[in-house]
Amino acid sequence: MTQPGLIVVISAPSGAGKLTLLTKVREACRDLSSTVSATTRPKRQGEVDGKHYHFLDRSEFERRVAVGEFAEWAEVHGNLYGTLRSELDRCLRSGHDVLLELDVQGMRNLRRLYPDAVTIFLMPPSLEELERRLRKRGTDGAAEIALRLRNAQEEMLARNEFDYIIVNEVVERAAGDMIAIMRAEHCRSHRVAPI
Ligand code: 5GP
Repeated sequence: MTQPGLIVVISAPSGAGKLTLLTKVREACRDLSSTVSATTRPKRQGEVDGKHYHFLDRSEFERRVAVGEFAEWAEVHGNLYGTLRSELDRCLRSGHDVLLELDVQGMRNLRRLYPDAVTIFLMPPSLEELERRLRKRGTDGAAEIALRLRNAQEEMLARNEFDYIIVNEVVERAAGDMIAIMRAEHCRSHRVAPI
């Protein structure tokens, strides 16, 4: 019995601990395929073009939007982010579950294209903890941190639009929750092919 891969969207306010969580989930689920997004955001230290993101300048990003190369895109924290159709198709062709890390607008747009997508919102345990994590990370300046905190509060208001909410209190537990969600989704009656 063959089952098509799931499309899984995860959204999280920055500082919610998404990177650590997904590292654990990817270790446990070797077959998970992840899209590499395009962005106009400047490269952070240690980031590699084509691996962490496809880094594009704004005019190139906008040109690709105009010719319909994006499955979804959005402006997040003042920069453009998007999923190229070619990238999504490449992952879907693998037959594996495909993971997309999108903001809330991206989730809404992708769900229009793929109503069957499984959507997960990752919550920090509290706003205080979120602020502490953003400061500790040290990748962003004070103004950037303030902007990300404001956006986080706004994003959290949309959490009930998602199929699932995971609170990232203890990362091992949160990763277990995400793996359990994907496993259960594979067993949903409409996904299991008839014998
Ligand atoms: P960062 O700048 O910290 O790498 O990413 C900031 C946020 O951009 C992520 O948390 C995620 O919500 C959003 N993002 C990353 N890639 C995409 C994408 O391809 N599409 C959309 N809509 N949002 C994205």
